[in-house]
Amino acid sequence: MLTITNLQVYYDRAVEALRDASLEVRPGQIVALLGSNGAGKSTVLKSVCGVLYPEDGEILGGTITHDGISLTGFAPHEIVRRGIAQVPEGRRLFDKLTVEENLLMGGYSRPAGEVSAGLDQVFALFPAVKQHRTRVSGYLSGGQQQMVAIGRALMARPRLLLLDEPSLGLAPQIIAEIFEAIRRLRDEQGVTVLLVEQNAQLALSVANYGYIMERGRVVLDGEPAKLLSNEDVKEFYLGMG
Ligand code: ATP
Repeated sequence: MLTITNLQVYYDRAVEALRDASLEVRPGQIVALLGSNGAGKSTVLKSVCGVLYPEDGEILGGTITHDGISLTGFAPHEIVRRGIAQVPEGRRLFDKLTVEENLLMGGYSRPAGEVSAGLDQVFALFPAVKQHRTRVSGYLSGGQQQMVAIGRALMARPRLLLLDEPSLGLAPQIIAEIFEAIRRLRDEQGVTVLLVEQNAQLALSVANYGYIMERGRVVLDGEPAKLLSNEDVKEFYLGMG
C-alpha cells in the first residue's frame, strides 16, 4: 500500500504546490487523482517517484511510505527497484531510439534472462507496439507513443504504476484501448495504479476509488459512485452543472 500523509511540497521554496495532501492507494486497485490544472496532481506523482528531489521542487513536510517503508530521499532508480514505475506526462520517450530500445531502457533493472519475457508481456498487452517494435519512436502517433511509454514502465515489473494524464491529446478510440489495457493490468496482473487524469468521467469509469484535489489539497474522496453523484463534482469536473 502507498500512503501519503500531510505532504507539503514547494517549488523554489516559494510556490506551495502541495499542502497537507494525504491519500492512500490500496493494493490491486486503480485510484484516480482528479482536479483542475495546477491542483498539484503531477506534484504528487513526482514526489512518490523521487524526481522532485533535489533540483526541482522540495518536500518540506509529510511522509510517503510504500508497504510501510519510507520513500522520501531516495533516488528515482532506487524507487523503481522498490516496485514503483512512472509514466510521465508527455510520455518522454527517447525519440531517436526504436520502440524496442525504449522498452529495453525501462527493463534495465530486470535480470537479463527475464527481459524477453517482459517484452512479450508488453506486446501481448499492446499488439500495436509489437507491430512497430523496430520503428523509431519519434515517428509514431501519440497513441502509439503512449502505449510505448506504458510498456517501458511495465518493463520494470512495477507493483505500483503511476500514470500522468495518459489520455492527453489522444483520439477516443485510442483512449479506450489504453484504458482497457490499464484495467487488464489491474484485473489480470494485480498491478496497482495511481492515475492522474483531467478526464474525470473516464478515470472514474475504471477506478476503485478517487481523490479530488484543489490548490494543493485533497478536498474530496470516495468511491466512483459517490464522486459521480456529488453536485460539485458534476458541476466542475463532469460539465453537468
Ligand atoms: P496539470 O494538470 O496542469 O499538470 P497538476 O494538478 O498536475 O496540473 P502540478 O503540475 O502538480 O499540478 O502543479 C502544482 C503547482 O505547482 C502549480 O501551481 C504549478 O504552477 C506549480 N509548479 C509545478 N511545477 C513547477 C516547477 N517546476 N516550478 C515552479 N512551480 C511549479
